[in-house]
Amino acid sequence: MAKALLIDAASLPVYELGPEHPFARDRLRPLYDLIERQGLVEQSELIAAPLATDSELALAHDPAYVAFMRELSAAAEDPALRRRAPTFGMGTADNPIAAGQHEGASAAAGASLACVRAVLEGRARAAFNPSGGLHHAMPAAASGFCIYNDLVVAIRAALDAGLSRVAYVDYDVHHGDGVEHAFAEDPRVLTVSYHEDPRVRWPGTGYVEDRGRGAGKGSVLNLPFLSGSGDGSWQHCVETSLRAALAVFKPELLVTQHGCDPHYEDPLADLRLSTGSFLFAAQLSQELAGEHCAGRWVASGGGGYQPYRVLPRAWAMVWMVMSQRSLPSEVDAGWRQAWQELSGGPLPERFLDTPRSEIAQISAGNEKTLQRLLAEIG
Ligand SMILES: [Zn+2]
Repeated sequence: MAKALLIDAASLPVYELGPEHPFARDRLRPLYDLIERQGLVEQSELIAAPLATDSELALAHDPAYVAFMRELSAAAEDPALRRRAPTFGMGTADNPIAAGQHEGASAAAGASLACVRAVLEGRARAAFNPSGGLHHAMPAAASGFCIYNDLVVAIRAALDAGLSRVAYVDYDVHHGDGVEHAFAEDPRVLTVSYHEDPRVRWPGTGYVEDRGRGAGKGSVLNLPFLSGSGDGSWQHCVETSLRAALAVFKPELLVTQHGCDPHYEDPLADLRLSTGSFLFAAQLSQELAGEHCAGRWVASGGGGYQPYRVLPRAWAMVWMVMSQRSLPSEVDAGWRQAWQELSGGPLPERFLDTPRSEIAQISAGNEKTLQRLLAEIG
C-alpha cells in the first residue's frame, strides 16, 4: 500500500475565473513543477481522478444549481443565462463567468472524492488534492471563488461509506463557512476553522459562540485570530485547541484544508504567518490523524494568492510531510529561475522563511479567545 497519494496535475482541467482574477487558472503549475524538480514524487504516488458526476455533486449541491452551471459553462456568453447567473452567485466580481467552469469545478470535487475513496478503501493511508479546498461554495450558489464544494462532497461520501465521525480542520485565513453550513446540524462531522477576525475579514462569520445547531450543537468550533497575528500565537492556539477538540470528538477520518493565505505576503488578508506555520499545520494534522484515525488523512489546498512566492513551497511541504520526505535544504535553483519572471522578482531560496514578530497585545487577545474556546470544548 502506498503510504500517500497525490492527485496528478495532468488529470486536472483548468479552473477558470478569468485572466485578472486572484485565483489564477495556472496557480497549481508552479507547485507541481517544484514537486517534480525537487524529486518529491514517484509515478506510483500519483492518482488521476474523474470529474465528479451529477449524483456525486448532489451530495453537496441543489441539482438546479448544477444544471444551471452546466448550461452556463457551455454557453458562457448567452445573455439570458447571464441574467440568471446572480441568483446562483455567478457573474459577480468574485465569481465571474467563464466557459468550462462546470468541468473545472467538477474536477476539483472528483479529485477530493478520489482521495477519500483511496483512503477509505485502504489504497493509501493519506491523500492530497491541491486543487480542492473550495470551502465557501454553498448548496445553491457559488461564493468566494468557489463553485462546487469538493470538501462537502468528499465528507458526505465518507459518511455514506459508513463512517460516523469525521473531523474537518480549516487552516485558510477565511472562515470555512460553506463546510460549516453543510454540517452545522450534523453531529457526525466536527468542523474546526482557524481564520482572521470576522469583524474585518470576509465572509464575516465564524465567531467562537457559533457552535452548530439542533442535533449538531457542539460540533462546530471557530477560532478567529486578530489581524496581525504571527506564527507564535497561531501555532500555540491551533495546537492547544485542536488536540483538545479531537481528543473529545475521536474522529475516524481527518479532512484538512491548507489555504496558505494566512501568509504575511498574501495580498487578500492580514495574518502574518511564515511558511513554518504551514509545515507545522501539516505535521500536526498527520500526528493527530495517526493518534485518532489510524493515519487516515485527506488534505486539500484552498486559498493562497502568492502563486509563485508562497503557494508552491507551502503545499510542497504538505506533500513532504504526508509522504514522509524530509525538507530539502534549498528551493531548486532551476525552479526559481523558471518562475521568477512571472513572479516579478527573485524567488525565496529556502522553504522556511524568516518569521515576523507579533505585538504582545495581539498574543494576549488571541490567548483570551483560546481560553473561551477551550471552555466550550470542556
Ligand atoms: Zn482564503
